[in-house]
Amino acid sequence: MEFVSTRGGGTPVSFTEALARGLAPDGGLYVPRHLPLLSSAILVEDAMPYAALAWDFLSLFDTDHDSEHLVDIIDRSYGDFSDTMNAPLQQLADNLFVLELFHGPSLSFKDFGLQLIGNLFEEQIERTGIPINVLGATSGDTGSAAIHGLAGKKGVNVFILYPEGRISELQERQMTCTGAENIFPIPIKGTFDDGQAIVKELMSDLEFKDKMRLSAINSINVVRVLAQCVYYIHAYTQLPPDNRDDVNFVVPTGNFGNIFAGWMVHQMGLPVDQFIVATNQNDILYRLFNSGEYHPDVVHPSHAPSMDIQVASNFERFLYYHNEKNAKSTLALMEQFKKDGSITIPNFNASNFSATRSTDEDILANIRRVKEDYDYVVDPHTACGFQNLDPDRTHVVLATAHPAKFPEIIKKAIGEAPTDPSLDALKRTKMVTYPVEASAAAVRKFIEENCI
Ligand SMILES: *Cc1c(COP(=O)(O)O)cnc(C)c1O
Repeated sequence: MEFVSTRGGGTPVSFTEALARGLAPDGGLYVPRHLPLLSSAILVEDAMPYAALAWDFLSLFDTDHDSEHLVDIIDRSYGDFSDTMNAPLQQLADNLFVLELFHGPSLSFKDFGLQLIGNLFEEQIERTGIPINVLGATSGDTGSAAIHGLAGKKGVNVFILYPEGRISELQERQMTCTGAENIFPIPIKGTFDDGQAIVKELMSDLEFKDKMRLSAINSINVVRVLAQCVYYIHAYTQLPPDNRDDVNFVVPTGNFGNIFAGWMVHQMGLPVDQFIVATNQNDILYRLFNSGEYHPDVVHPSHAPSMDIQVASNFERFLYYHNEKNAKSTLALMEQFKKDGSITIPNFNASNFSATRSTDEDILANIRRVKEDYDYVVDPHTACGFQNLDPDRTHVVLATAHPAKFPEIIKKAIGEAPTDPSLDALKRTKMVTYPVEASAAAVRKFIEENCI
């Protein structure tokens, strides 16, 4: 399969090249040249083992590695999840389900993309003999998942910017307590968007990117999006047959990567009624889906910090498909956005999507209500998914993180805090951070001094 830029520049690239480059050279994002149809067998069968399904799906896109090699990479990526289903579907009521995506090593859904990327990068370094430097910005969970995917691997150094004081203590510990010498967690004074802007700036300086052999792990990397497609199919095949006709996936959303993956599989034939974009009080996407206007606001720190985002990178992929894959008009809109700071999408039509927004009070109330009604504890991000659900329709709420990552907020809501042994151990380990000024110039200098 070839991959093309949403902005139409450059020549199409292979899977391994799209993986290595992250951002396309024209500043656009890679998308598959076409979306193949899913085989109907995948959809009627009972849930397959996760790794087998992942191979069926990913081999449609990764036509570079031979089967055996890809099987091995996938097995290593998904073999040590704490639940043998990897993404088990829990039924809370007749037509209400939770897809648990927090059984990976860093306890968030981001492990699904970043475990795979970690192993693919390792394979790339072995194959080419060229070491790489990974650069990313995180609102908490991407960083810990990337670090768990790459800590201690040979030939790679990892630089992760995160907004100091705006992520949970355990998220910070997951990044800073690895003891691995190839990991550089960089706290910056600013927001996630500031970090993401620095990463984007450095990544679009092609000379620097080439010289440092930079690779991206943010959800601008198309391989992450593809990896996340798999669990939508896995969820669907775990549903009782009666619930398969009118499925609504509810996705706690920040950067729009996770929900976009679901929408892509829907384009490939997965029957879905609607995708519900669940935002916190940072509600740019809620406003977008209600008005067609994409207008960033300032970020207000919330109880769901991994969604404290205004500029959603994957929005560009959405625009591209909304423009019926017209890269020229996508480029024009993105240029207008850069110039004016906001855009109104012409002929806006997103009937597959609807959106909700949760304030911090809603988050606490939803955690409490889910516990009371179903004796189930959700984390503050997942709690946004329980906002204003229509009880007459089938909902699958994606549980994006383990509640034990956010003990203070859960305690505030229900008076008790869930725990997890892997997190308890972190509290006894020393934190190592590399504070750098929040500017592209300062981060550039730091990378030059610490690159591999
Ligand atoms: C990253 C994250 C989100 C947002 O996902 P996007 O793909 O950025 O929309 C939601 N919940 C949790 C727990 C996360 O870590």
